[in-house]
Amino acid sequence: MNNIKFKRIMLKLSGEALAGEKGYGIDFEIVTEIAKQIKELVDMGVEIGAVVGGGNIWRGRNGDGMDRTTADYMGMLATCINAMALQDSLEQLGVNTRVQTAIEMKEVAEPFIRRRAMRHLEKGRVVIFAAGTGNPYFSTDTTAALRAAEIEAEVILLAKKVDGVYDKDPYKHTDAKKFETLTYIDVLDKGLQVMDSTATSLCMDNNIPILVFGLDSPENIKKAVTGEKMGTLVCKG
Ligand code: UDP
Repeated sequence: MNNIKFKRIMLKLSGEALAGEKGYGIDFEIVTEIAKQIKELVDMGVEIGAVVGGGNIWRGRNGDGMDRTTADYMGMLATCINAMALQDSLEQLGVNTRVQTAIEMKEVAEPFIRRRAMRHLEKGRVVIFAAGTGNPYFSTDTTAALRAAEIEAEVILLAKKVDGVYDKDPYKHTDAKKFETLTYIDVLDKGLQVMDSTATSLCMDNNIPILVFGLDSPENIKKAVTGEKMGTLVCKG
């Protein structure tokens, strides 16, 4: 317990993070690795809310020529598929988990009810928030910011493919520099692709720090919670 830095966290896993090397679909080995890390944290007494993306299956902006709203609803449904995959992996490891969806699908999961989510967290259950915010034109980053504020999470752990925030694309530029810390305003001013601007503003207005780190090793989730220096911290400054 002693080396926990955060007692209640919001873990944002992008769809890409669940897809592994293939870049699409679900890699169950990766999901199991992530689930094992989450289990360790639960065993340490950390309360965990998680938001999963859907980009490994569908993104609203992929719907070339489609009605944007319909394409976005498809994206929200994709997050539910990922949420169920993560739930299954967690439960196979004996971790009590609830999926709560922003679009009702009662046969599959609970609807999002904040008070109920809080109770689950207090009881040590992992709560996976699926179907985004339930609204088109938003992202799952914004969902993570919104739900983090609602459940009073101390931090958003933003697990990405890249191990932090760089001044330019590190895959394209060998001289790209990683930031250790950034303010919300820096992110917005410099147009850094950490989170979309809606999500960043919501974090700024509610003073929720964001730790951006790489999922190259799933061990990193634990390191992030125990305060080991890594990734990029976005905060008030
Ligand atoms: N989406 C939406 N409203 C939300 C959250 C998500 O419309 O509140 C849709 C949107 O089309 C998005 C897709 O769901 O492209 C998948 O989410 P996202 O792109 O955030 O997933 P990630 O990039 O994290 O995998």
